[in-house]
Amino acid sequence: MEYDCIIIGAGVGGLSAGLKLSTLGKKILLLEKQPVPGGFATTFSRKGFIFESAIHCVDELSPGGWVRGFLEKHNIDKKIEFIELKDFARIIYPGHDFVADFNPDHFLQLLVSKFPQEEAGLHKLFSAFDKFFRQFDRFSESPLPDVLNLLISPFVYPFIINTSTCSIGQFVRRYISDKKLNAIITDLWRFMGLPPDSLSALYFLIVFRGYYYHHTAYIKGGFGRLFQAMVEEIGENGGQSRFNTAVKKIITQKGRRVKSVITDQGEEFRAKTIISNANAIDTLTEFIDQPLLASRYRKKLSAMEKSVSAFQIYLGLDQPAQNFGMSHHRISVNPGYDHRVSFDAALRQDYSHCLLELTDHSQLDPSLVPKGKGSLVIMTYDLYANWANLNPQDYKKRKMEVVQSLIKCSEKYLPGLSKHIEVLEAATPRTMQRYVSSPQGAIYGFSQTIAQAGINRLSQKTAIHGLFLTGGWTFPGGGVHACFVSGESAADLALKLLK
Ligand SMILES: Cc1cc2nc3c(=O)[nH]c(=O)nc-3n(C[C@H](O)[C@H](O)[C@H](O)COP(=O)(O)OP(=O)(O)OC[C@H]3O[C@@H](n4cnc5c(N)ncnc54)[C@H](O)[C@@H]3O)c2cc1C
Repeated sequence: MEYDCIIIGAGVGGLSAGLKLSTLGKKILLLEKQPVPGGFATTFSRKGFIFESAIHCVDELSPGGWVRGFLEKHNIDKKIEFIELKDFARIIYPGHDFVADFNPDHFLQLLVSKFPQEEAGLHKLFSAFDKFFRQFDRFSESPLPDVLNLLISPFVYPFIINTSTCSIGQFVRRYISDKKLNAIITDLWRFMGLPPDSLSALYFLIVFRGYYYHHTAYIKGGFGRLFQAMVEEIGENGGQSRFNTAVKKIITQKGRRVKSVITDQGEEFRAKTIISNANAIDTLTEFIDQPLLASRYRKKLSAMEKSVSAFQIYLGLDQPAQNFGMSHHRISVNPGYDHRVSFDAALRQDYSHCLLELTDHSQLDPSLVPKGKGSLVIMTYDLYANWANLNPQDYKKRKMEVVQSLIKCSEKYLPGLSKHIEVLEAATPRTMQRYVSSPQGAIYGFSQTIAQAGINRLSQKTAIHGLFLTGGWTFPGGGVHACFVSGESAADLALKLLK
């Protein structure tokens, strides 16, 4: 039997590609090495507490949002319940403590009230954002072929060119001179893993619109429910999903087109097209059966910068975290106004100077925890190199030291937290590496630097006819919304061939 498409990996990109193809009647086979779907974005439970393994917030999930529209188009909204969010986050800086909702006018008013001397610049900056969004929408919706669209960009979409060639830090500085204000406006860098002066303005602004301009929602029961529903729907469409099955090789017809995949159990499955949601490096340098091509890819990909990794602590609490200060479901803590300094502090494991992200999903959905209890996830960035060479004993010891330090830092905002812990789990960059096979535990694929974002992003097309990439490593990039977009466009590329 030959499938229309084999999908390697049931992360967000793989699932959304599989959903689209199976809805259109294509015969698909989804192969996932883990026992459950979702990749990084999955949920897990311990002693009655359900935790999001990675996700803090996902944009575009409210009615009218892109992801919500995709789920509605594919029947998934009938299988899950959405919980609308009232606000995005409480954001703390030394001397500033405020709540961001999903309304850009409120955000602008708030910034003007805090920095009245920058009022004129703020208005100019927000109208530049609006111009960019309008041009970006016209660009994305244009019926012209991509090449032609790009050729006319300097004249028709100058803001796209403009934001493609600078960092978000540089972009904001054109309008704002106050360093503290610049830091607050670019606070969302923490969702993209690169400080504002290195982060592509183009990518930042797309994500910024997702969180600061539109309402969003959570999924009742956790994001794992969403991914289970997608697998269920794929099955109802006639597609097949196999878990605990890793792909080891992609067999080609002399490197010209795809033929089949070989799994870790030695089975071979044939397909007309293959979409890989496994990381791009494994796919293009380890899986493909063409040593020459693999070595060319190895050279290219090894020169590319991988994104940062993370350290996460999952706490089951004997009471809701609101009781000791968790005033909102998310609190973003900045120790200062120089994001590069707090990023570097996280990578050095200097916990008194690094950023912190505190998230309490049980505030949105109390069914995630036993009655009367609470939960909390503490996150900061980290480096794989900090953990790579530790032996099992040192690894365990260091993990507990980091847990203690981060809990102590969090107690500055949530006094008494350590006295209420019933369940404790932690994930290091090594966990991130192992769970989804992400090189160096990178959590957003390749970094969103100017050189690796937008049209410079690793293409979803490969040198092999019928082999496509999806997920955070490829276009448009990391984050759940982006990976949904990536899954849909990989499915479109496969559909073109299948026609
Ligand atoms: C700590 C953390 C916090 C985050 N916070 C947020 C957030 O708040 N909001 C947000 O939008 N994004 C967030 N992200 C990013 C987001 O989770 C990812 O960008 C997204 O989930 C990646 O999806 P993906 O399609 O790239 O698939 P991945 O999650 O990378 O999944 C790939 C899948 O392929 C499988 N696979 C790999 N190799 C093989 C093989 N050989 N055979 C079969 N299967 C294989 C893996 O097991 C996995 O299931 C966070 C990530 C992390 C780690």
